[in-house]
Amino acid sequence: MRGATKVNRIAVSPLLREIAAVFNARGRQAFLVGGAVRDILRGTPHSDWDIASDAPPEEIMRMFPAVIPTGIKHGTVTIRHKKHSIEVTTYRSDGSYSDGRHPDSVKYAASIEEDLSRRDFTINAIAAELPGGRIVDPYCGRTDIEKRFIRCVGRAEDRLNEDGLRALRALRFASQLDFAIDEELLRAIQANPLMISPVSIERVRLELDKIVASGKPSTALLYMEKCGLLPLILPELTRCRGVEQKGFHRFDVLTHCLLACDYAAGRKYKHTVRLAALFHDIGKPETAKPDDAGVWTFYNHEFVSADMTRAIMTRLRYSNADIDETVHLVKEHMFNYTDSWSDSAVRRFARRVGEKNIQPLFDLRRADSFGMFGAEPPLNLTLDFQYRIDSVLAKGRALSLKDLAINGEELIKAGIPSGRLMGLILRRLLEAVIDDPALNVTEKLLEMALAYFHDMAE
Ligand code: ATP
Ligand code: MG
Repeated sequence: MRGATKVNRIAVSPLLREIAAVFNARGRQAFLVGGAVRDILRGTPHSDWDIASDAPPEEIMRMFPAVIPTGIKHGTVTIRHKKHSIEVTTYRSDGSYSDGRHPDSVKYAASIEEDLSRRDFTINAIAAELPGGRIVDPYCGRTDIEKRFIRCVGRAEDRLNEDGLRALRALRFASQLDFAIDEELLRAIQANPLMISPVSIERVRLELDKIVASGKPSTALLYMEKCGLLPLILPELTRCRGVEQKGFHRFDVLTHCLLACDYAAGRKYKHTVRLAALFHDIGKPETAKPDDAGVWTFYNHEFVSADMTRAIMTRLRYSNADIDETVHLVKEHMFNYTDSWSDSAVRRFARRVGEKNIQPLFDLRRADSFGMFGAEPPLNLTLDFQYRIDSVLAKGRALSLKDLAINGEELIKAGIPSGRLMGLILRRLLEAVIDDPALNVTEKLLEMALAYFHDMAE
């Protein structure tokens, strides 16, 4: 990283200079703030721009042809300019937060310095004047960026009491930026983790998603455990601490899940795979039983884990599509392929898992393997199985009713009435074709359907 303390000015993009010119022409100020300044100083790209200005929202609405009043109650509007969205917030000095969630009132502030004083962390309280790029940094955020350090603006305890979400944001930034957390800030969270309770579940979920999408989710999750936030947000994971699994793994269940999640996050796997990696074994504490030799077993833990994943994700208000996909991966994660599997066993696996979920499930297997040994899994971990699936499906891929060489209409023409019986017949045909794809020929299926019909009708 560059010597951030020495940077007194940043380069400003032409787009932002154009926007600033409109503000300046009306005698108004514009400062780039928030994550963009932080990331420019860290030397990493940042895609969204936040501007702070002394212009009130109504005036900004008049300044530009396309402005959306995205959060006008809080003084925020969004300028649409050349296909970019730029959020502009009028300088604010928030009032008190008696509910630990929303400021009781939003007051406009007189200066950028006052606006920076309401921001959460020093690394997020740096502004760059537009269009020139001069840095305003009253809380030494640049030094903290250089020291890779997350520290509150002002007293940690007070700032966390105003808005409990800041606790989780601090840990999220630690994961995203690989920064350490100030002791005072950590102690303030530890002293009162319940500060998170008034925060809406959607805001908590957004932070959790950013943690799981960060380079190393375990950083934040371990901090959450240490500070007492994990038992409040994901008690199911807390209970995995100390659950040993000697005979299978080197690590306890929590460490295993965190390693698996880190691996999935580092490989940029699908978000649902990262969540599945985090949750795939949470049913282990409940299913743990010693066998006759005293070795722990976890029979059916994948089904218990799947049910628990559904409960967690429902509680956190994930979309049904994300819930279903993650739960499905968790439920299927224990497949144990050997080359003694018959073709129909392979086809049944592909049908049950769904073709589009096979790659994600293999990704999860790699993450799971990393979580067991703490080492890069062999390249061929799932390769044999992948080849086998490809070659078996190439011989015939009737995996659902729509792949059958016959449909309901043709059966009706042959005299089989539509209804429950026909449904059963179609499913039996599919089972037969999965066992032997050579049967997937209209005439053969018709013959079989009529035979089933007569059997059933008797
Ligand atoms: P990113 O966009 O990468 O998540 P960011 O720092 O831009 O990170 P935002 O949530 O976009 O975070 O917020 C923009 C800025 O607003 C922050 O940098 C910070 O200055 C301020 N901010 C956001 N949330 C809070 C909060 N809960 N308390 C105080 N200040 C906040
Ligand atoms: Mg941002």
